[in-house]
Amino acid sequence: MSSEYGKLYVVATPIGNLADISFRAVETLKQVDLIAAEDTRHVKMLLQHYGINNKLVSLHQHNEERASAGLLEKLREGLSIALVSDAGTPLLSDPGMPLVKAVKDAGLEVVPIPGPCALIAALSAAGLPVTQFSFEGFSPRTSSARKAFFSEKLLSPTTWVFYESSHRILASLKDMAEILPPDRQIVIARELTKLHETIVKTSLANALELVEQNDNMRKGEFVVIVDGAAPDKNEQVISAEQEKILRVLLAECSIKTAVAMAVEITGVRKKRLYQAALDMAKTKDA
Ligand code: SAM
Repeated sequence: MSSEYGKLYVVATPIGNLADISFRAVETLKQVDLIAAEDTRHVKMLLQHYGINNKLVSLHQHNEERASAGLLEKLREGLSIALVSDAGTPLLSDPGMPLVKAVKDAGLEVVPIPGPCALIAALSAAGLPVTQFSFEGFSPRTSSARKAFFSEKLLSPTTWVFYESSHRILASLKDMAEILPPDRQIVIARELTKLHETIVKTSLANALELVEQNDNMRKGEFVVIVDGAAPDKNEQVISAEQEKILRVLLAECSIKTAVAMAVEITGVRKKRLYQAALDMAKTKDA
């Protein structure tokens, strides 16, 4: 790699508390020739706080393809550039991917300056297994897409994490409660590093009640973490919606026909639906 080219520094910035920034990040923001920021007005507050006076260009989701080409040219001319987003680590549910890809593809150097990231901060204080986990970005916007997403994750054996907005946190938990068992452990991490930081670990049913009844629990920024399904229950678990379908069918037809029809409707494996049907018959007889 030729050293006459500039480097792209991907710099993590605070997710609320302005003190959460590394010395190296501050030094980098001071020393680069240019800072590419998601929102230049927003980053100015951070720069002012640390006495940094540097050139800013904007790189947001609506201009990033075009802006990336221009920034790559500047790196080729030898300028060094820092990439920052509004909060946390760029690229994580934030702009920056096209720029980093273009710079890597061109064979130039990309240097991470690690620091805050809401999902990692939430996981570090959640008390749920983190040996393996999946990050799902923001949950889908519509109720039907969210239910499909939760159905897909229902049997995932490892912890999963998603970002949620204050507008959708309640609707999202309601949809989740239709698909996941009520006793599934979840963590709601709200307003991390800020004045009203709240990290609640409880069952899905309790979490829904809490968010429904407490206005403050619907304010701010959210990370939701969901425990994986218990491995020994994998074969039995069906979602609440799937259970409803099976129940309606069982009221009208034989177990065999109801299960066959439920397989067609839900796509769930026959063995699992058959077991659920037998369990329902048992509880009905008891
Ligand atoms: N790049 C950021 C990161 O590294 O976490 C994420 C940016 S994404 C556009 C913003 C979302 O991240 C918010 O809607 C929320 O779900 C989550 N988030 C960001 N800051 C947070 C905080 N202080 N507390 C809880 N969640 C936060």
